[in-house]
Amino acid sequence: MAARGAWPPPTPALGGLFGVGGRGPPDPAPEPKQLPELIRRKRDGERLSEEDIRHFVHAVVEGSAQDTQIGAMLMAIRLRGMDLEETFALTQALAKSGQQLEWPEAWHQQLVDKHSTGGVGDKVSLVLAPALAACGCKVPMISGRGLGHTGGTLDKLESIPGFSVIQSPEKMQMLLERVGCCIVGQSKELVPADGLLYAARDVTATVDSLPLITASILSKKIVEGLSALVVDVKYGGAAVFPDQEQARELARALVDVGAGLGMRVAAALTAMDNPLGRSVGHALEVEEALLCLDGAGPRDLRDLVSQLGGALLWLSGQVGTHAQGAVRVTTALDDGSARGRFERMLAAQGVDPGLARALCSGTPAQRRQLLPRAREQEELCALEDGTVERIQALPLALVLRELGAGRSRAGETIRLGVGAELLVDVGQRLRRGTPWLRVHLDRPALSTPQRHALQEALVLSERAPFEAPSPFTQLVLPPPVSQS
Ligand code: URA
Repeated sequence: MAARGAWPPPTPALGGLFGVGGRGPPDPAPEPKQLPELIRRKRDGERLSEEDIRHFVHAVVEGSAQDTQIGAMLMAIRLRGMDLEETFALTQALAKSGQQLEWPEAWHQQLVDKHSTGGVGDKVSLVLAPALAACGCKVPMISGRGLGHTGGTLDKLESIPGFSVIQSPEKMQMLLERVGCCIVGQSKELVPADGLLYAARDVTATVDSLPLITASILSKKIVEGLSALVVDVKYGGAAVFPDQEQARELARALVDVGAGLGMRVAAALTAMDNPLGRSVGHALEVEEALLCLDGAGPRDLRDLVSQLGGALLWLSGQVGTHAQGAVRVTTALDDGSARGRFERMLAAQGVDPGLARALCSGTPAQRRQLLPRAREQEELCALEDGTVERIQALPLALVLRELGAGRSRAGETIRLGVGAELLVDVGQRLRRGTPWLRVHLDRPALSTPQRHALQEALVLSERAPFEAPSPFTQLVLPPPVSQS
């Protein structure tokens, strides 16, 4: 069959995609092919049928696909792309690899979730899920692990001793009844195919693929049976897609494929040049999330949590405007109700209740004693005077990955205490010799190339001090719901 073109298609005709447009009767279903043949076809730029895609996903889940074949197919998809129909078929095949979650009818309007394409220092989910629960939502969040240089919500939560990301669908329902939110990972029951492909992408340089990201995110969200979803699509130096136009294409794909799947999906375009907040690394990010749940913490983090949460409250019809939604979320941070939900979620997901209480009510110094800590700390000082123009998140993340805060092989253990604290803000004036970064590491010292890479990450200018802009740039909205 001739190739029908890679992503993005010239005009995403969703009517055609879902069988209501004028494309005529569907092609007769072909016989499932052998995997080498499917890989060859995608490698040569041909499109895969729905049946082919189901066959590949089935082989991944039942274990008949070899790791090399999975890697080869992912690379072929990464290089050749997929059109909207293929992406839609992949999303559905991943979602159908496990169980569909079913919730009481009365919850339907309240079921919301947020997902991110991956950032550095992005601990938004840890704060937002309990904040939304405090606003009356049900948040059955299926999250991911670190991918490429970006951190994963599940790995961050696992830095809290006892926290279990594997929960059965029955237990998730109980968590939503009692707490209003839960944060869980894929399992044998929940989108197992995405769990396997996600881990394989992480170690085969196939993370930055529009169709693979779209299918990976939306498959998990279909299974959750949501009323509304907001996807935080990052752009900038440390995003999977640095270019804002490409990120916008991904945003559109997520919104359009989501609409085709019957979900109200909005996508927020947010800048990812600087780390989000002042902490990067698993345990350090949990500490900062707790600070935000205290109603404090860095402004960019608090702002993004309220913008994304506000969008969800608005999309799901619980408030009249995005701005009203944002105010509801900040109120839940300031009055302690979001932190209360977080404490209950920790205890309900395996953390000793005494520890959950101590973490949520302790001071920052007390919290640090309760979480994994790296053996050493090393501070870097500014090499000259200047205004902090940028703290480049990508080199920082790459050095931290080398120090053990990320994976370079599937399933590798990560060092939960390793990370970095930014000691300065973007826009601030710095004097030569002022400490600007504290690295937490498990080895005696940084290597010379690591120290050099980190010093290069600090970009100074001669500008007057300024207030750093919010990372939130634009909300790409779904088509209006038809009244008929
Ligand atoms: N989050 C996911 O779940 N999948 C991706 O591919 C990227 C971010």
